[in-house]
Amino acid sequence: MSSIQKLNQIYEGKAKKVFATSSPDYYIVEYKDDATAFNGLKHGTITGKGIINNKMSNAMFQLLEKNGVKTHFVEQLSDRETLVKAVKIVPLEIIIRNIAAGSFSKRYGVEEGTQLKISTLEYSLKNDELNDPLINDSHIIALGVATEQELSQISAMAYKINDVLKNFFAGIGIKLIDFKIEAGRLINNNNEIILADEISPDTCRFWDAKTNEKLDKDRFRRDLGGVEEAYQEIFSRINQ
Ligand code: UDP
Repeated sequence: MSSIQKLNQIYEGKAKKVFATSSPDYYIVEYKDDATAFNGLKHGTITGKGIINNKMSNAMFQLLEKNGVKTHFVEQLSDRETLVKAVKIVPLEIIIRNIAAGSFSKRYGVEEGTQLKISTLEYSLKNDELNDPLINDSHIIALGVATEQELSQISAMAYKINDVLKNFFAGIGIKLIDFKIEAGRLINNNNEIILADEISPDTCRFWDAKTNEKLDKDRFRRDLGGVEEAYQEIFSRINQ
C-alpha cells in the first residue's frame, strides 16, 4: 500500500479532508483539529483532536472488523492520515441511542441519562441547508436515498456496531450513550455497503460509568471546559 500516492483534495468537511490517490479504489482522509457544532453555527479548535480521532477511529474500525463488520479502514499512514477504501457516502446520519440525551431528550421531553427500554435507531438526511432533518425508512426509499435492501443492511450493521462498542466501552468504564455512523457504497465493488466516516468523541456520547462525567464533544458544544482533556481521557482508556 505504501506505493499509493496522495493526490488532489476532493472534499473538505467540518473535521476531515479527503484526498484522491493514485488508485481509484482508495482515498486518504486527513483529520483536522477544527470543531463545529449546531450545524456550523459554533466554530472552534480542539488541539490534538485530529490525531486522537484518527487513531481512535482506526482502533474502533479494527475492533469492528474483527467482529465481522466491514469498514473502509485500510492502513494508518501518519498521526492524522489514513488510507481508506473509496466509497460514495449514503447521505444519512445513522444514529443509535442507548440512553436519552441531546436532541432526543429535547424532542421528547425526557431527562438526559434516562435508560431506554430498547436501543433505538433513527436517521437524519445529511443536508446542511435543511438542517439535517429526521427522515423515516419509507421516505428514504421513496426519495431514492437508499434502497430497502440497503436500509436493512445499514440497520443490521448499526445494531451490530452498537453491541460491539457498548461491550468494549463497558470494559473500560465508559457508558456508550449514543453515536452516529455513516455508511458508504464501495466504489468498484457492486456498491457494497460498508462502515465509513469515523467513530470518535466527535460522533459518540461517552459518559464515565461511575461519575457520569461527559467525555465527548458535548464539552465543546455546551462550553463545559476540559475539552482536550476529555478526548485525551477517552484515548488513554482505549489504550490502557
Ligand atoms: N451526531 C454527530 N453529528 C451530527 C449530529 C449528531 O456525530 O451532525 C452524534 C452526536 O455526537 C451524538 C449522536 O449523534 O453522539 C446523537 O446526536 P443528537 O441527535 O442527540 O444531536 P445533538 O444533540 O448532537 O444535536
